[in-house]
Amino acid sequence: MSQANRMPYQEMHLLPIAGEWRKGSARNVLNVTDPFTGDTLLEIVQADREDLNQAYISAENAQAAWANMGPGQRSAILLKAVQIFDERREEIIDWIIKESGSTRIKAQIEWGAARGITQESASFPARVHGRILPSNVPGKENRVYREPLGVVGVISPWNFPFHLTQRSVAPALALGNAVVIKPASDTPVTGGLLAARIFEEAGVPKGVISVLVGSGAQIGDAFVEHPIPKFISFTGSTPVGLNIGRIASGGKYLKHVALELGGNSPFVVLADADLDQAVAAAVMGKFLHQGQICMAINRIIVEDALYDRFVELYAEKVRALKVGNPSDADTVIGPIINRKQLEGLLNKVSRAKEEGARTVVEGEVRGNLLPPHVFADVTADMEIAREEIFGPLVGIQRARDEAHALLLANDSEYGLSSAVFTKDLERGARFARQIKAGMTHVNDIPVNDEAHAPFGGEKNSGLGRFNGEWAIEEFTTDHWVSVQMTPRSYPF
Ligand code: NAD
Repeated sequence: MSQANRMPYQEMHLLPIAGEWRKGSARNVLNVTDPFTGDTLLEIVQADREDLNQAYISAENAQAAWANMGPGQRSAILLKAVQIFDERREEIIDWIIKESGSTRIKAQIEWGAARGITQESASFPARVHGRILPSNVPGKENRVYREPLGVVGVISPWNFPFHLTQRSVAPALALGNAVVIKPASDTPVTGGLLAARIFEEAGVPKGVISVLVGSGAQIGDAFVEHPIPKFISFTGSTPVGLNIGRIASGGKYLKHVALELGGNSPFVVLADADLDQAVAAAVMGKFLHQGQICMAINRIIVEDALYDRFVELYAEKVRALKVGNPSDADTVIGPIINRKQLEGLLNKVSRAKEEGARTVVEGEVRGNLLPPHVFADVTADMEIAREEIFGPLVGIQRARDEAHALLLANDSEYGLSSAVFTKDLERGARFARQIKAGMTHVNDIPVNDEAHAPFGGEKNSGLGRFNGEWAIEEFTTDHWVSVQMTPRSYPF
């Protein structure tokens, strides 16, 4: 059916809980707003702990039949979801723009990433396989079965909600798990409700997916502590992730976790870099989605010989970026997600000035629009270099030489993504390997995600890897079954 003669997804205020679309049972109502216009998009009655319990029980009940479906059938459902992505492309992109304040460029990228992981996941049902191992015991066969984990709890953030939910949900489902999703309160539709509609339309049976809209503070701990989920896939900030890791390992029930947390990506420009290309990359890698990306450039580190030219060219290009309505095709800087985040960013601007950074680009706030701010002569001890920024601000640091640039790049508690620019590709690869991070890109931006390449961080940026064969590992577990085929003799 084409999009033209099909009803748009409606009733977005209802939650799929335990196989039924209904209101949550909590007293509080969540007002979902458009960060640019401030308009209310919808009101959602939130889920409470009893809803959570029902969601987990129904997921556990529905999981076995889902896992027992043939790989071809599960794969076909995932491919059907990809087809729906294509048919409903504009509708999905529209939701991403209005709910998360994404520019059209970013919303299109996000749609593409979510589609990509769904397509990749369609290959998983036939790629998962066990092994037969030799045994030291006469007459024994060792078999290793790769099984679904059971029920997976997915917690996602507001910045790339559609993709970051999908990158856990699609592989989890493909590999025979049931899922319960807790989206961020700013983005309940794109962070979960839309995915649930798409998968239901694609043929995922009722009860296999539930979505609980509720505040992290109210249902977060219960979501992680519940005995049913065997795996919690969390994407969000480092403080919340550390807490989830503690609960999952130190609570009553042990469970696996994937923690995809904050970042502080260094962007290193060595003296032999192509300056124009490095400047262009530093603009895109910093300002996509107003800098609200875990992999976004957080620190620009430029070797001495290029420093002054870089600062000048960068400032010139940044000043020309269009700030405004995210729906306009040429807008680069849309709104910050909410008032609280905006205030945190304004504090960071004040702090950078107080600490002696040189202001190169700045502008006035309008509503939730924060124009780009660029600071030069930043040093490693300043807050703007130490902390994750998550907004359209950036500091530029001067490195004496390559060794100093590496030292500065690694001077962070985080280790998610990173980038280095040089015309000498092998020098770039050598430099890249010395950066303590899960991902480093030579002559490209740190913001990269491919559905078949390992995505994840080191240090306080997280645990685990997503995408491709790494996701197959994450969302399944091994079961060693030994078969004693001849009677074994025992010593007593
Ligand atoms: P956040 O940690 O505040 O919230 C993330 C999710 O956790 C939300 O759904 C929130 O409701 C939930 N939550 C909050 N408290 C909880 C609790 N006590 N128990 C369980 N869940 C709880 O993060 P955010 O502000 O939504 O997102 C921004 C952060 O996410 C940044 O630090 C960013 O770097 C990080 N991030 C990381 C990646 C990655 O892949 N590494 C991707 C995107 C964003």
